[in-house]
Amino acid sequence: MSPPVFRIIIVGGGIAGFAAAIALRGPNRHITVLEQSSLNKEIGALISFQPNASRIIQSNWGLDSQNARPMVDEGFRIYNTDGELINAIPLLAKKVYEADRLLFHRRDLHDNLKHHATSAFPSRDGNPVEVRIASKVVKCDVLSGVVTLESGEELSADLIVGADGMQCDAQICLARRTTRTSYANRIVSISFDGPGRQAEVYGITVLVPDEQMNEDPNAKQSWVAEGDLKKIRQSFSEFPAWVTSIFKYEITNTPLKD
Ligand SMILES: Cc1cc2nc3c(=O)[nH]c(=O)nc-3n(C[C@H](O)[C@H](O)[C@H](O)COP(=O)(O)OP(=O)(O)OC[C@H]3O[C@@H](n4cnc5c(N)ncnc54)[C@H](O)[C@@H]3O)c2cc1C
Repeated sequence: MSPPVFRIIIVGGGIAGFAAAIALRGPNRHITVLEQSSLNKEIGALISFQPNASRIIQSNWGLDSQNARPMVDEGFRIYNTDGELINAIPLLAKKVYEADRLLFHRRDLHDNLKHHATSAFPSRDGNPVEVRIASKVVKCDVLSGVVTLESGEELSADLIVGADGMQCDAQICLARRTTRTSYANRIVSISFDGPGRQAEVYGITVLVPDEQMNEDPNAKQSWVAEGDLKKIRQSFSEFPAWVTSIFKYEITNTPLKD
């Protein structure tokens, strides 16, 4: 007689949720990813992968580099506001850790991880992962192994993985923080993350205190809300023109909380 199927529920269909799904795929397991949004799409920013993570997704999981289009991060350069180079730090990740530090477009990485989690690859163990969109988890009882959806539906599992990210206020993870304070509330800075998607896009991250964004405090998804260019320009009014000249394009607003 075959052993009972081991049921796994992963709360959250982000990068972490699908990475967990790939890692947990195996014979005799049924994995369900519950995602609250109905689109389950990532935003258009870049994300860097440290060598330990890039080695796992490329060498162990065979993530298709061609589709995910990562670019190798070759180093950092730090400039002062006069445009003078202060420090240059080459990255020797490949030499030291046998894997590169990679820059992905978040959407490419997310799409690729989802594809690997949900496809029936001959080389991958276990059944493809089931994804349920528009399935917001509102309660999670880890002792009895039951999650409750907003619709009232209850689902049982032998293992529940919290991958609901830092934007969520539901008590899904056991180690959920109790306070939400911005660790970036004093910083005004700009970072040129570098080219992504084989130089099709260029990633730039600006940090400004919350109060300078004047974002709607009741907004549920400020993670993907558009930033206000006028307010961003005000925050960087003392920065030189070679920096601020980039603020003519659309930007998205991602609060740095917790
Ligand atoms: C500006 C910025 C730059 C960053 N750069 C990097 C970087 O370069 N490298 C890096 O490793 N990390 C970086 N991070 C951190 C990065 O965001 C995380 O590593 C990564 O996005 C986390 O993915 P996640 O899947 O854990 O969370 P998320 O991307 O937040 O995904 C969580 C998912 O869970 C869903 N969800 C939430 N609550 C529920 C619920 N109750 N029920 C069902 N579904 C739910 C959400 O809709 C979402 O799809 C950065 C963060 C910021 C803000």
